[in-house]
Amino acid sequence: MVPVIALVGRPNVGKSTLFNRLTKSRDALVADFAGLTRDRKYGEASWRGQSYIVIDTGGISGDEQGIDELMAGQSLQAIEEADAVLFLVDARAGRTAADEMIADHLRKRNKHAFVIANKIDGADPDAILGEFAALGLGEPLGIAAAHGRNINPMLEAVFGPAEEQPAEQDEAGHDAAAGEEGVVTQTAEARVIKPRGTKIAVIGRPNVGKSTLVNRMLGEDRVVVFDQAGTTRDSIYIPYERHDKPYTLIDTAGVRKRGKIFEAVEKFSVVKTLQAIQDANVVIFVVDAREGIVEHDLNLLGFVLEAGRALVIAVNKWDGMAEEQKAFVKTELQRRLIFAQFADIHFISALHGSGVGLLYKSVDQAFASAMTKVPTKRMTEILEDAVSEHQPPLVNGRRIKLRYAHLGGSNPPIIIVHGNQVDSVPRSYTRYLENTFRKVLKLVGTPLRVEYKGSD
Ligand code: GDP
Ligand code: GDP
Repeated sequence: MVPVIALVGRPNVGKSTLFNRLTKSRDALVADFAGLTRDRKYGEASWRGQSYIVIDTGGISGDEQGIDELMAGQSLQAIEEADAVLFLVDARAGRTAADEMIADHLRKRNKHAFVIANKIDGADPDAILGEFAALGLGEPLGIAAAHGRNINPMLEAVFGPAEEQPAEQDEAGHDAAAGEEGVVTQTAEARVIKPRGTKIAVIGRPNVGKSTLVNRMLGEDRVVVFDQAGTTRDSIYIPYERHDKPYTLIDTAGVRKRGKIFEAVEKFSVVKTLQAIQDANVVIFVVDAREGIVEHDLNLLGFVLEAGRALVIAVNKWDGMAEEQKAFVKTELQRRLIFAQFADIHFISALHGSGVGLLYKSVDQAFASAMTKVPTKRMTEILEDAVSEHQPPLVNGRRIKLRYAHLGGSNPPIIIVHGNQVDSVPRSYTRYLENTFRKVLKLVGTPLRVEYKGSD
């Protein structure tokens, strides 16, 4: 599962600066789920090909009244959700009472924590580090987030030194064998779950109908089996079969016992959602027809696209809508989802079950597209046809030459195009190639990426 790192510390120690530095290393999208999480910010980053999620927290000032209020705070919830905590202190300001209180808490929670003394520029490193060693959380590490100093040693301390090439990873860094039986082993607390078949994540904002849809997709009789309480941060993986085909549902909402009502906001977890996106083959993105697409939806969709996951959009609660309202919603959705045009859109009622069967058709199709295998010979033919139809431009008086293409990864498919002057291929031409490959290979429901390899 994708690791989660929380940045905690007093206000002004440099958490946001570090957050931006970590997440910018990969055009990361920042999800600011205002209203849902108040002062937390989530971003995606990567270190040596390993994706991870960073949570920035609002800051613990030490003025909180007592541990209860502190516990209720969002920063401490982020600590609970994290695999590792970067505890930032200010090297210039020195150790404060608030630092000690935070250290105390981290020790009590037995959290994997690193003391990071930021703003080491202009401070005396030795003196400072000794002072923060007294926090009792191991040897402090000095960094300067604003100047990018010591960021790599810090990440190395967190993730461990570079390992041998991990087995069976394709160039996308995704499981090459994902989707095949029993290949992925998840350790979620006490259980070892082996997802089988297509891994589907049902995601969306609170109250759009995820639990209702998951129940529908599994069928009535399955629900009872899975009313165990999920842990706070692990999604539940539910392997099952439908028409003899294996699937695993990654349930972020918590399949609900009938008649039991949970507070929607509480059961919604951004971390679970982001991890589920990373881990899924296909994402079913649920939207509430009555509310349309709002900012949070776009944030979440941004993560799905960034992760390159196959996507099916389910517009839920389509029951009981007036005709003119339906027409309006359809137009509005097409306008706002222009950047996810490759995805099928279904209008469903999870409550009544209408449209749910068709969802599976799109899921299967999207999965097949995402995992497509095409021989290099065929890929090169498609490239040649595309090029003769529409030549790449001249650069410095020389024409960009694109020679051959091969498939370099799946889920999402990555098309590697070899040629020269490839650094000068305009974005519009890359889009043209993407569209051509998509059309000829009949890829539906998955994003795809065209990348270049230069030969001069
Ligand atoms: P946050 O409240 O913990 O998120 O802190 P910010 O990231 O907003 O940083 C607070 C202030 O510290 C800003 O003025 C930053 O420019 C400054 N700052 C952050 N990192 C460094 C650093 O490495 N060196 C110095 N000298 N200043 C820094
Ligand atoms: P979640 O928070 O996304 O898991 O949403 P739930 O599945 O808990 O549903 C939130 C509310 O919307 C519940 O009251 C459901 O009964 C209702 N709901 C879910 N699906 C539908 C639907 O298709 N039509 C209507 N009218 N209500 C629905």
